[in-house]
Amino acid sequence: MYKEIYETIKEFNKIILARHVGPDPDAMSSTMALRDSILLTFKKKEVYVVGSGSSRFTYFGKLDKVDDMKDALLIVLDTPDIRRIDGVNLSDFKKIVKIDHHPFVEKYGDIEHIDDTASSAAELVLELINETPLMMNKQVAEKLYLGIVSDTNRFMFNNSTSKTFRKVSNLIDEYHLEIDKLYEPLYLRPLSEVRFEGYIGLNLKITENGVGYIKLSNDLLEEFHVDSASPGNMINNFNYIEEVLIWIFFTEDIKNENVRVSARSRGPIINETLAHYNGGGHKYASGARIKTIDDANVIIQELDLLCKKYKEGDSFEN
Ligand code: AMP
Repeated sequence: MYKEIYETIKEFNKIILARHVGPDPDAMSSTMALRDSILLTFKKKEVYVVGSGSSRFTYFGKLDKVDDMKDALLIVLDTPDIRRIDGVNLSDFKKIVKIDHHPFVEKYGDIEHIDDTASSAAELVLELINETPLMMNKQVAEKLYLGIVSDTNRFMFNNSTSKTFRKVSNLIDEYHLEIDKLYEPLYLRPLSEVRFEGYIGLNLKITENGVGYIKLSNDLLEEFHVDSASPGNMINNFNYIEEVLIWIFFTEDIKNENVRVSARSRGPIINETLAHYNGGGHKYASGARIKTIDDANVIIQELDLLCKKYKEGDSFEN
């Protein structure tokens, strides 16, 4: 499959790279690293990363502005379904490649490489580069490292396999990555977010069977000087709380006139539940968008039932 993707990249002079809306470090790193690797390998190609920007992620590099995408090759990373692709119109493109590590949702690419056992889209780009003549340098290696670190929550999630560790270990050796320096832009955050995290810790409610939840209004976000993306950025820090099996944040997003839902689990599978609420994602790390914060109650009830069944032993994976 990687050979076929490489041959397709070779074939096109203009290549656009896209990823999901509401980008995270893996989406940013995988697109930017693949762009830079293609440009290193094929100096004359036009290769662009599109999608809306985020001031948080400027350290990954610059996004591109492209006026004419007609007849180019589109490579979409980290995005299982069309509705979540940011900044492109699929019908503009001559050929589409999808590279993703989410569970399959729908086919939209002419070539699709999906491996939901991979830790991250960055890990798949690393494999693509390793297994084809695509080139790598220290900057590309650094971006990929950050994508993998972020999507595995510093190798804590069970999506980090021995394969992930081997690949990362080679990357560190070969490109002399100074990992302490790399972590700074990824993890540095304003004091306002730390204070807000304290608020969440103090006010998290717990259901009978172990769902930790909180509803965060726009007024509260303003009071703490944080934005609607902030709760999602700190949700991984609420892992390993004895009383909590699933934890979920509901955050009012007045700009988009809806509510951001971010959920994590250390046992029950949650993405199937959130898929019924305009959401999706991974088994244990999932998100959704709902219309009003009142819709949250049904989700909390459903997740509580999941926790109950899980504790009774009904929801173990075979
Ligand atoms: P987050 O909580 O935003 O970090 O998202 C966790 C996972 O769920 C990621 O794989 C996201 O791509 C996915 N996800 C988040 N929001 C949605 C949504 N509205 N629809 C589908 N998948 C989502």
